[in-house]
Amino acid sequence: MKRKQREQTPTRTTTMRVSANFGRRFALIEDSAPGVAVQARTMGKRLRPVTGDRVEANALEGEKDWVITQILDRDNTLVRPDARGRPETLAANVELIVVVACPAPAADFFIVDRYLAAARLMRAAGLLVWNKCELAPLPDDAQAYVDIGYPLVQTSTKTPSGIDALRDAISGKRSIFVGQSGVGKSSLINAICRAPIQRIGEISTASEEGKHTTVAAQLVTTPDGVALIDSPGVRDYAPSITNMADVAEGFGEIADAAARCRFANCRHRSEPVCAVKLAVADGCISERRYASYLRLAQLTRQLNTGRY
Ligand code: GDP
Ligand code: ZN
Repeated sequence: MKRKQREQTPTRTTTMRVSANFGRRFALIEDSAPGVAVQARTMGKRLRPVTGDRVEANALEGEKDWVITQILDRDNTLVRPDARGRPETLAANVELIVVVACPAPAADFFIVDRYLAAARLMRAAGLLVWNKCELAPLPDDAQAYVDIGYPLVQTSTKTPSGIDALRDAISGKRSIFVGQSGVGKSSLINAICRAPIQRIGEISTASEEGKHTTVAAQLVTTPDGVALIDSPGVRDYAPSITNMADVAEGFGEIADAAARCRFANCRHRSEPVCAVKLAVADGCISERRYASYLRLAQLTRQLNTGRY
């Protein structure tokens, strides 16, 4: 017997934001009303939305699930290798990368530089947080980021201090928190949201499937404009820069000086006349940042042996 296809008249098509994805199911919100989420699935398996995506979705008459029909162009993506080494997209449309460092565990400013370079290359803004500030004053190497134009907020989740300033600094921007393990990312996120954040998978109204599937990443919003994309994978995100030419672009002050180098393809390493090396010699570019640049360039070269 030929089964009559069920009528699925879309009641309306709306542009929505993916706020969580668990397996093949999604939670969608409207940017203007982030407190209300609807459940959705995709039309076909080809569409692979991720948290942060803008999508076109239809509410269907008589159905709880919305259907995602299209992913709108992404400004950027957060990609990492999955367990088998294949690139996996964790999130999209990240506007701000919040890099957290602290006195203990000791800050590794090369890691900070690498995150900030990744942020620039993604065309996301960067913000440095000096957490556990009650333990030690801001070191010169951290203060130096302010001199090259990065915003910096000092925080302590213990005293507490700087939490309101940090909330203000990230408000209105889809953000992720990154940094070494133990610097206080979870503590800061909970302090900013004023409560331990609830994982979508734990919400009782979540689908059965949702309860059994790990949430890849979740967009956590608060009434005061916080929009954090969070997951263990996002917090452990280690950016890999794959294109040599990009490395200098990741360091704003080096990219600026590089415009004055004699050779357009200058690596700012051993070239005889190099505006970047001159700026380092003059003290206009910090030796530490320049050393980070050389180290990151070296790392990238190793990843690309054969291509460089
Ligand atoms: P994460 O690994 O970056 O998410 O770090 P956690 O939030 O789990 O924090 C790691 C440790 O640092 C925990 O023991 C926290 O209690 C502690 N911690 C977090 N913030 C502060 C702070 O401002 N001051 C101090 N002294 N300890 C903190
Ligand atoms: Zn140069």
